[in-house]
Amino acid sequence: MQIDLSSFFEAEKLDKEVSAKLEAQEIRFFGEKVSILKKEPVVFHFSSLGKGKLSVTGSFKFTFDTRCDGCLEPVETVVEADFDRVCFAKQEDYELHEEEDPLELSGYLFDVEAFLLNEILINWPMKILCKKDCKGICPVCGANNNLVECGCDTFVPDPRMAVIQDIFNAANKEV
Ligand SMILES: [Zn+2]
Ligand SMILES: [Zn+2]
Repeated sequence: MQIDLSSFFEAEKLDKEVSAKLEAQEIRFFGEKVSILKKEPVVFHFSSLGKGKLSVTGSFKFTFDTRCDGCLEPVETVVEADFDRVCFAKQEDYELHEEEDPLELSGYLFDVEAFLLNEILINWPMKILCKKDCKGICPVCGANNNLVECGCDTFVPDPRMAVIQDIFNAANKEV
């Protein structure tokens, strides 16, 4: 969906609210498809900031069908955030202020889909876990350690420690 904002560049003072829904059923993330389970309509509030410039504010909430980074079990991830961006039209003589990170509109059109997909990526969690203390998968037998304690010996000596140990041993021999 595209929202026509041309009236903002004709009038000096204007406010407008538009409700729109993300059309995509899934997003591509690092080459992986992630399904969108729930999406609430997003209300975009546009407000003119003077010639050739306007702000878009609002908030969104989407639920995704993801997997736990630890144990790989399915887990729902909610991504929600507020946004507040400055938009300007390419045709306008708008002076860029670095801190604003403005969004360039092509032909006075606001692309809902592109905007929301970008906002989702910006707000995507660094790590997805089914629970805070997810025990993950045993590197030896592959068991989900949240469900079973397999008792495998997963102790792997840190190679950096081994180097220090060698130096320590060598130093001791010299004495
Ligand atoms: Zn997990
Ligand atoms: Zn194991």
